[in-house]
Amino acid sequence: MRIDLHTHSVASDGTQAPADLVAEAAAVGLDVVALTDHDSTRGWDEAATAAARHGIALVRGAEISCARWGVSVHLLSYLHDPQAPGLLAETERARSSRESRARRMADRLARDYAISWDDVIAQAGEGATIGRPHLADALVASGAFPDRDAAFAQALHRSSRYHVAHYAPDPADAVRLVREAGGVPVLAHPFADRRGSTLDEDTIEELVEAGLAGLEVDHRDHDDRARARLRAFAAAHDLLVTGSSDYHGTGKRNRLGENTTQPDALARIEAAGALPVLLP
Ligand code: AMP
Ligand code: FE
Ligand code: FE
Ligand code: ZN
Repeated sequence: MRIDLHTHSVASDGTQAPADLVAEAAAVGLDVVALTDHDSTRGWDEAATAAARHGIALVRGAEISCARWGVSVHLLSYLHDPQAPGLLAETERARSSRESRARRMADRLARDYAISWDDVIAQAGEGATIGRPHLADALVASGAFPDRDAAFAQALHRSSRYHVAHYAPDPADAVRLVREAGGVPVLAHPFADRRGSTLDEDTIEELVEAGLAGLEVDHRDHDDRARARLRAFAAAHDLLVTGSSDYHGTGKRNRLGENTTQPDALARIEAAGALPVLLP
């Protein structure tokens, strides 16, 4: 069984339509794929139709933007009720704040680069959760940078003068809201420190008390030491462990299935989630 539990489509900052992403997941030999767009479930229905057609199991999920003390935290939610009011209100608030923040960043960038808000919107899918990758795509389209990586390294990183923060809920509140929605909360890439600060173990313990179910351990932004620490933490707190690609299409180097999750971890997610895994 090859299981990849973290991918993005054009419903957020991936580059493929949900149906194309699912088709590719089946073509590369995955048995199970999760669609986890930032703060959005808008790709679920299209992905479900494609999963049935291509004979692959689908886990419906999302990656919830959170922040504590200025540290950006990503929380994966699996198999939650997409209409649950508490979680939906927070993700919609984050999505709308992401849009005004992107406008402000575009205004700042427009002082030095030949881009406008319209150029940014042109890079985003209909109803997409707007993120810095769309600003990166507009900068690339303008000829300022060769690819997203270069745009992030020079103009879009958190300490850049063009950067603006957006609203995001506290991660402990988000864990509780995911549970209230019947979802299974798994902390995404907890020790991925190349892009900014991360939570310490005391704070992750607080998230466990709030209902955290698991940790994403096998992820390309974790070195061996980070993985070993996370595995030990998960064992000590009876958390499930996942491995995933965090695939974004051509927007990042991450390849589908480059890290995978063991079937027993998926079984724990399915047992705890409000929705079923969609079988082919
Ligand atoms: P935002 O959520 O708008 O602050 O933007 C962060 C998102 O940008 C993350 O979810 C990543 O998917 C993406 N990202 C971060 N760094 C890079 C990079 N160097 N190249 C491509 N995408 C990136
Ligand atoms: Fe992303
Ligand atoms: Fe993430
Ligand atoms: Zn992600």
